[in-house]
Amino acid sequence: MAMGLFTWAKPKGNLFESNSTMQCCLCGSPDDLTGEHKIKASAIRELFSGPMVIGAFDGESRPRFAQSAKSKAFHFRARLCGTCNSSRTSAADLEFTEFDKLARERMEAGLDPGDVFKEPRYTVGGEPYLNLFRYFAKVLACQIAQEDGPRILPVTEFAIGKSDFNPVLLAMDLDPAFLAFSQVLGSQEFAAHGGLAMQLSRLTGLVHCLFSTLTHGKLRYTFSIEFDFRVGLALQRFDPVFHERCVAAHREAVAAKDSG
Ligand SMILES: [Zn+2]
Repeated sequence: MAMGLFTWAKPKGNLFESNSTMQCCLCGSPDDLTGEHKIKASAIRELFSGPMVIGAFDGESRPRFAQSAKSKAFHFRARLCGTCNSSRTSAADLEFTEFDKLARERMEAGLDPGDVFKEPRYTVGGEPYLNLFRYFAKVLACQIAQEDGPRILPVTEFAIGKSDFNPVLLAMDLDPAFLAFSQVLGSQEFAAHGGLAMQLSRLTGLVHCLFSTLTHGKLRYTFSIEFDFRVGLALQRFDPVFHERCVAAHREAVAAKDSG
C-alpha cells in the first residue's frame, strides 16, 4: 500500500542546500541546536514497559538494549534548532502518535493498518494527513543529514510546514524482523529504526529513491521519496560525495544480499 503517490520533481527554485552538523537539518539555522529523538520519546514510553530492543534488525547486527527512552541510542547525530524541534513540528509529532495508535490497534486486530487512511480524519490533503507525512519527512531529512547529505528542500520545507507539497510515500506492513526477534526474545516490545537506504536507477546508475523505516511493535513504516533522473543528476552534481556514498552503500547492500 502506498500513500502520497508522487513521482517527485519540484516545479521551480533550488532543490538542495548544503548541510552540516553546525546547522539545523530542516531550516539551516545555526542557532539553538539540539538532537532529535530517533523515535519519539513519548511513543517509546507508551510502547515499552520493559527493556527496549533497538538495532538495525537486518539479521546481522546484534540488537542492543536501551536503558530508557532517553537513551543516546535513540538520538540522531544530525541537529535540529529549537524551533524546528518544537513549534514547527509538534503538530506532526502528535499526529504520528495518534495515527500510530490507530494503525497498531488495527494490526493487532488482524486488519490492514492502512485502513486508518479511510477515516475521514485522514482525507488526502487535509491538515492531519499532511501533518502525518510531515513527521516522516522530518525523520527522513534527519536520516539524510545523518549521512552528511544535503537538505532536500521539498522534503525539509514540507516537514516544517513551509510547503504543503507532500513528496513522501508511505507503506505499512508487518516487520518480518519482529517475528524473528519475538521468537528469540519472547517479547512484543519492539522498536527499531532503519538507517538511510536507497535505490539506484538501473538505466542511469543515479539515485532515484531514498527511504528509511521505523517499526513500532510489529508495525513497520517504510517512507521514501522518489524522483526522476533529472533530480538524480542534480543531486549528483550538487553533492557528488553524498551521491557516491549512496552508490557505494547500495553496492554493499546488494553484495551482502547476494552472498547471504
Ligand atoms: Zn530549524
